[in-house]
Amino acid sequence: MKKIILTGDRPTGPLHLGHYVGSLKNRVALQNTGDYDEMYVFIADTQALTDNFKNPKKVHDNVIEVMLDYLSVGLNPEKVTFFIQSKIPQLCELTMYYMNLVTLSRLERNPTVKQELIQKNFENSIPVGFLTYPISQTADITAFEATIVPVGEDQLPMLEQAREIVRSFNNIYGDTLVEPVALIPDSKVCRRLPGTDGKAKMSKSLGNCIYLKDDSETVKKKVMSMYTDPNHLKVTDPGNTKDNPVFIYLEALVEESHFEKYLPDYKTLDELKAHYEKGGLGDVTVKKFLYNVIEEVLEPIRERRKYYEDNLELVHNYLQEGTKKAEAKAASTLAKVKKSMLIDYKDIM
Ligand code: ATP
Ligand code: MG
Repeated sequence: MKKIILTGDRPTGPLHLGHYVGSLKNRVALQNTGDYDEMYVFIADTQALTDNFKNPKKVHDNVIEVMLDYLSVGLNPEKVTFFIQSKIPQLCELTMYYMNLVTLSRLERNPTVKQELIQKNFENSIPVGFLTYPISQTADITAFEATIVPVGEDQLPMLEQAREIVRSFNNIYGDTLVEPVALIPDSKVCRRLPGTDGKAKMSKSLGNCIYLKDDSETVKKKVMSMYTDPNHLKVTDPGNTKDNPVFIYLEALVEESHFEKYLPDYKTLDELKAHYEKGGLGDVTVKKFLYNVIEEVLEPIRERRKYYEDNLELVHNYLQEGTKKAEAKAASTLAKVKKSMLIDYKDIM
């Protein structure tokens, strides 16, 4: 079986550190191994509209932002096919057919959807499009016959839903679709990076992000005002490192060489944590260190972004060419699906 990688992001804002540790880093690593047959990375504007339908300009403008982020982290258009979701009409058609295979109660039970419904305060006015977005996600995944989907932890229920739809389709109509598996980061802290406000997830919609495109001053301000342990009032107080986003970010990003360079009194994160937990280590010291570590990560990303911002026509070209290629692939899968469902009517027309 072919190894096909597919993943995407919603153009609801620029990408942030959560995306970087949760998914982008994995994608670049996969890309660089070269151990795959096809790799698709797409901008999920149709999905973004399900809860931003009153905000078309936001979705429109963020398509290019997200594409710039992709190129800035090092995704390479020679290896990756980039496309815009709404430009592939076959995805809507597949969604329509898959809708028959999913019950309303199954969608309502999806833990990620459940949580997002609360977060978005829809109450009794849930848009049908929002509730059904896991089905359209299955269309995205199956249209490209993806076998591996690198995502953060919040997407695991979506992958489960996709696998169920694939099994159900293949049972009824015969072996046609490919079952995908999720690829989540090895490190637990990277699977769901918390927000700078200490909330469970850094998320564009929650406004608690450090964006990959933030300049150095902005990063400094955000880091220095991050939530830490609220009971660590005096430097001498013992502190909590477990639910402390400053330490969680360090765990996700720090490398041994950073200690040597920026905080030579310590050799490892464990040493730093032990001191904080015992008492005697101030938040400001740890935050300054974290700021330097984040800057190490963001500096090369900013540099690449600057290049692509100055060469936007290149960026547009990558999207145009990728979208063309992606449409051909989706059309080929749709043809197989329609044949299996006996709606290609080759016998009649
Ligand atoms: P929105 O608030 O609009 O839903 P988001 O910040 O959740 O935006 P998405 O575009 O929904 O971002 O997610 C894209 C990918 O990034 C998904 O695979 C998701 O699991 C991953 N991801 C998003 N936020 C985090 C995070 N804080 N930690 C780890 N992975 C994340
Ligand atoms: Mg999300």
